[in-house]
Amino acid sequence: MEENNIRWKDFAFDLFGTTWKVHFVDYIEEGESVDFGHTSDVTQEIIIALGNKERYKFTKEQIVLTLTHEIMHSIAQTGQYTDINYDEPFIEGSARCIVSLINQDVFNYVEKEK
Ligand SMILES: [Zn+2]
Repeated sequence: MEENNIRWKDFAFDLFGTTWKVHFVDYIEEGESVDFGHTSDVTQEIIIALGNKERYKFTKEQIVLTLTHEIMHSIAQTGQYTDINYDEPFIEGSARCIVSLINQDVFNYVEKEK
């Protein structure tokens, strides 16, 4: 298991005038199942768990995917994607694609070509 020694610092980003705040927490205490992250369209806050209650620490890859997944929720809500009750497959699929694109350095490639 890869050791996750990264320091995750809270940050904020803007989507068309709306500020979304990202908070990293040791774990999320809610329900019986493992909870990786939350996005609130009421407070515009994203909570990302770095591990679970049993003190298992998530890997960097798990945390990056969760962060991307939750950012996709904020994008869907900013874009007024209305089918919010059935958006998990779309959100998770999009997040996995974005992480793959980041790992291929696609966004830096675009910048270099300007
Ligand atoms: Zn989700």
